[in-house]
Amino acid sequence: MKLSDMRELLARRDIQLTKSLGQNFLHDANQLERIVAAGEVTATDKILEIGPGLGPLTELLLAKAEKVLAIEMDGRLVTYLRERFPSPSENLDPKFELLHDDALALLKRETRDWRDWKLVANLPYSVASPILVELSAGLRAPKMIVATLQLEVAQRLMALTDDDHYGILTLLVQLDFEPRGWFKIPPGCFFPSPEVDSACVTLVRRATPLLPETQRDIFRRVVKKSFSQRRKMMLKLLKQDWPKEKLEAAFVELNISPLERAEKLSLTQFVALTKILSP
Ligand code: SAM
Repeated sequence: MKLSDMRELLARRDIQLTKSLGQNFLHDANQLERIVAAGEVTATDKILEIGPGLGPLTELLLAKAEKVLAIEMDGRLVTYLRERFPSPSENLDPKFELLHDDALALLKRETRDWRDWKLVANLPYSVASPILVELSAGLRAPKMIVATLQLEVAQRLMALTDDDHYGILTLLVQLDFEPRGWFKIPPGCFFPSPEVDSACVTLVRRATPLLPETQRDIFRRVVKKSFSQRRKMMLKLLKQDWPKEKLEAAFVELNISPLERAEKLSLTQFVALTKILSP
């Protein structure tokens, strides 16, 4: 959909875009193609799209995938999308399924098994991080995530130990996903242009989980506590919640200095520490 078509469509349907819903629509054909290519979408793929908007990405996904399930919160866009991509009513397993819902609420409410799915989406920026944390956590996560979001969030998802962007989001998502790559998308590719820079990231689910389900809650608690005050020594912070002797022994066993700050510890070290602190 060209920019002129998009403007004309919005004007004809009298749709005023809502900033709080992150309604910056992607109209650049090259960038849309790059997103689909990053998802390596084939005819056997099931795709989850969060925030289809006016459907420019949906159209490309439907042309390649076996199935697309889209979740859109704005009822005006849902009405338009149902007209644009009608499902024959007799078709019991339609290629395109559209849910009118808040995707974050739905993901929290319904613990679906997404293991056979890929997320390919230009996410609403304000809820992109909680959506990714919700979707990527646990053993039912999708096999691949291709998400367009705010550049700063992309940098956190891709960060390595000791990077400025390395932190809670990095570790919570990288526990189950390996970062594969990313590219910037200039603001002018969206209508209206967002005030922040954007990027599309690709993450691939790890073949073997690093932790069993039972230890994931401890991992989240250790990571959150360790980064609760970035400049403080993490041992001191952890002592607020775990017994001193157990922690000191764990730091000795893992050869971590008691003076270390959380940003210096790798994912592997956080995983090892979780295993020791787990009952
Ligand atoms: N995919 C479209 C595109 O690339 O042009 C639109 C992307 S736009 C950045 C984000 C979309 O997410 C909007 O259509 C917005 O209405 C929708 N949205 C916002 N919050 C949502 C939520 N919590 N759940 C589902 N959709 C949401």
